[in-house]
Amino acid sequence: MQTQSVLDEFKNEPFTDYSKPENAEAMRAAIEKVRGELGREHTCLVNGERISIDAKFKSYNPAKRDEVVGVFSVVDDDLSIVENAIDAATEAFNTWRFVPAAERAEYLFRIADIMRQRKHELSAWMVFEVSKTWAEADGDTAEAIDFMEFYGREMIRWSQEQPITKIPGEDNSLEYIPLGVGAIIPPWNFPLAIMSGMAMAAVVAGNTVVLKPSSDSPTIAAKFIEIVEEVGLPPGVVNFVTGGPPTGEAMVTSPKIRFISFTGSKGVGLHINEQAAKPRPGQIWIKRVVAEMGGKDAIVVADDGDIDAAALGAVQAAYGFQGQKCSACSRLIVDEKVHDALLEKVVALTEQLNIGQPTEGDTNVAAVINKKAFDSTLSYIQKGVEEGGEIVTGGTGDNSQGFFILPTIIANVQPGDTIEQEEIFAPVLAVIKARDYDHALEIANGTEFGLTGSVYSASEERLERARREFHVGNLYLNRKCTGALVGVHPFGGFNMSGTDSKAGGREYLLQFMQGKLVSRKV
Ligand code: NAD
Repeated sequence: MQTQSVLDEFKNEPFTDYSKPENAEAMRAAIEKVRGELGREHTCLVNGERISIDAKFKSYNPAKRDEVVGVFSVVDDDLSIVENAIDAATEAFNTWRFVPAAERAEYLFRIADIMRQRKHELSAWMVFEVSKTWAEADGDTAEAIDFMEFYGREMIRWSQEQPITKIPGEDNSLEYIPLGVGAIIPPWNFPLAIMSGMAMAAVVAGNTVVLKPSSDSPTIAAKFIEIVEEVGLPPGVVNFVTGGPPTGEAMVTSPKIRFISFTGSKGVGLHINEQAAKPRPGQIWIKRVVAEMGGKDAIVVADDGDIDAAALGAVQAAYGFQGQKCSACSRLIVDEKVHDALLEKVVALTEQLNIGQPTEGDTNVAAVINKKAFDSTLSYIQKGVEEGGEIVTGGTGDNSQGFFILPTIIANVQPGDTIEQEEIFAPVLAVIKARDYDHALEIANGTEFGLTGSVYSASEERLERARREFHVGNLYLNRKCTGALVGVHPFGGFNMSGTDSKAGGREYLLQFMQGKLVSRKV
């Protein structure tokens, strides 16, 4: 494979402007193409071979609950497939780890090129499979392209000479080498970007992987696997298995797995961490676990904050992708002096949102992922009211056609209330009144999570205090708390939000490598 001699600097993939008729037309055409391909079967990929078993599960369109998006093998029913995938990855690691970094990176650049050519088609799959609006799906595809371009360049950087102190009489070097076989377990909410970013970060670092997508978003992962095959990655470098928790569990507990890269909920992340800590017969290493988990992210609005900007930021961050982002604003903490004025603006903007099918270009809010999410959201709303919250707008759902929940604002929520503490992962915003700025920061820090947060204030001193005291991995000042860009806003959280791996940042790849020092007497 040829490597590019001169790499240009990393730049984020631009978002598509769907107000331009030609772009909207291209997206509509992609949606129709994908519509014609719904309901097909997609197979597993083990050691470069396509595999399927009789036991099947289906992935459905959340906005049209009976529409089948894809059909997949349930590997849970034959876990020898997982074993074979891990063996294939173990075998492939013996050669893949010695492939020069620049050559490995080149595969990612080619994947990025194909993703660019198929941008609208990939986005359209997300419209159907996870109910992303056009803009949200486009953002996901752009982020996936960014991860390929960024991690490719990063690996080339890590493969260069590392700075160490020189001494006479010895020739010393520090080199970063890969770990081994990784279990890649992504969530459904950034089904292309996070899934492909997690997998290919590990692969470009010289590891081989077994990838198990979420069973809510396997089709978009299968489309990515087609691209992986197209660029000709050697067999066994990326293995693809589909199933539920038993499949994931078999990956996590295998003694041949060297590391686990997980993104998902706190409960599953903690469980995986515990399972991974236990050495199994034949295991000769401590498994490394990278676990990025949930959030209970807050926007704090001080009495001197720009309330128009804060209202817009809160609405975008609370309801973008139906609030199903780990970075979504689920708590709006407002100084009581501006509480009523801000709330009025937030409600007005929320009520302007267009709820509908994600296939329509003017939809702002579509369906939540599945029935479980629909039911749990409604019970959280009920709990919020039982604990004294007051529904200001929304509060209901309709699951006759798909899993639609009205963008909901619950005011009069108190610090410590269930809906102020637990991740709901849906379009539900809790509004909490603070006595002053000190109190607002205290409330903001008062959960077990620490992923993203925002502060709106005109005061330098208050913004500085937030910089020091607001304990989150991604803090945003006078802007919304969603929309992290690869390279620009390395992403990861504190406390129960995870291991702070900073996806899209310059340290990220280090988690999939180990340093080897070689000292030679001269
Ligand atoms: P989830 O925890 O339900 O599932 C995540 C993955 O784990 C899926 O692929 C699932 O099949 C797998 N899994 C489930 N049980 C398993 C087990 N016992 N062993 C191995 N694997 C198992 O999460 P989700 O619903 O897919 O995603 C939403 C969650 O992800 C939210 O909590 C959100 O905040 C979080 N998230 C975090 C980040 C971040 O960067 N911190 C980013 C995106 C999403």
